[in-house]
Amino acid sequence: MGALPKRKISRVRRDRRRAHYLRLKMPHMVPCPQCNTLRLAHHVCHYCGTYNDVQVLPEEKTASANE
Ligand SMILES: [Zn+2]
Repeated sequence: MGALPKRKISRVRRDRRRAHYLRLKMPHMVPCPQCNTLRLAHHVCHYCGTYNDVQVLPEEKTASANE
């Protein structure tokens, strides 16, 4: 027999331990100051194409990105 834990870890202890690294997988979303849609923090907004009040992406590309 291999090594086994002496006691069962309760749901609370198990979930509290996992919350530390599972929390990091959640994307940090903040509202864009230009168009107010949620975007990733420290990333260019793909809706209006601005970052730090600077237009980064060309505006016609953001409107029709399908083709
Ligand atoms: Zn935006």
